[in-house]
Amino acid sequence: TSGLMAGKRGVIMGVANNRSIAWGIAKACRDAGAEIALTWQGDALKKRVEPLAQELNAFMAGDCDVTDLASVDAVFTNVEKHWGKIDFVVHAIAFSDKDELTGRYLDTTRDNFTRTMDISVYSFTAVAKRAEALLNDGGSLLTLTYYGAEKVMPHYNVMGVAKAALEASVRYLAVDMGGRGIRVNAISAGPIKTLAASGIGDFRYILKWNEYNSPLKRNVTIDEVGTSGLYLLSDLSTGVSGEVHHVDCGYHTVGMKAVDAPDI
Ligand code: NAD
Repeated sequence: TSGLMAGKRGVIMGVANNRSIAWGIAKACRDAGAEIALTWQGDALKKRVEPLAQELNAFMAGDCDVTDLASVDAVFTNVEKHWGKIDFVVHAIAFSDKDELTGRYLDTTRDNFTRTMDISVYSFTAVAKRAEALLNDGGSLLTLTYYGAEKVMPHYNVMGVAKAALEASVRYLAVDMGGRGIRVNAISAGPIKTLAASGIGDFRYILKWNEYNSPLKRNVTIDEVGTSGLYLLSDLSTGVSGEVHHVDCGYHTVGMKAVDAPDI
């Protein structure tokens, strides 16, 4: 991939630590020659993100909590001052109260429903809106989703409803931004042990289930999501927009438990 992203600059939002999916994408883009800007959420995560930014020679674009739209504005103002124009943005942000990522969807509270939708869905549109002015023609936006948007997954609950809305946002944004060749896509990643995933009930069971039943008989890595993200952010995919691309070792194609899958 060396040189694939030469001359391209992008903002990557959602690195919490070196297990984050956003980190896998950041590394792949940097390896391909892109210049990267990172955001972080709050001082505690800044301590983790700073050394990672140094590793990639990345610009620390700002503390960004998407519930505070002024902080989103500030990030894009900083990026404009630093670079002027950009070529891509990665949105790898989601949140729901972990007490509601277990049990029944039926028990979701209005407060957490609204908060989950705000942080995990609206923020992508808010970011796209602010990025639009800075994006070069042919730019690319990427967000992260999960199969729980399409099918009912144990414990995923309100986050599944949010991811369904996020995937619909991808299609609407793809139309709104397509005139200048700007593309909007999502990667539907298989389960990966990250900070956010640790909030989901029985996550170890979900990992094992996917490992035993996916066509590739294993789980996907952040580096694999990274290189698939690289494809969607690069000029290799100029004909692809409004797409939800599964990077899940093929799990979404399977209809039932494998006959040779061990008990979990
Ligand atoms: P992660 O914990 O490493 O990243 C989640 C990020 O969201 C963190 O950087 C956190 O700071 C950020 N975030 C949460 N609330 C925020 C807010 N209010 N403002 C700004 N940032 C906020 O976990 P991850 O698994 O890498 O998650 C990245 C994305 O991938 C999420 O959208 C997640 O739903 C999605 N995803 C994860 C998996 C998985 O199994 N890990 C599978 C499919 C999709």
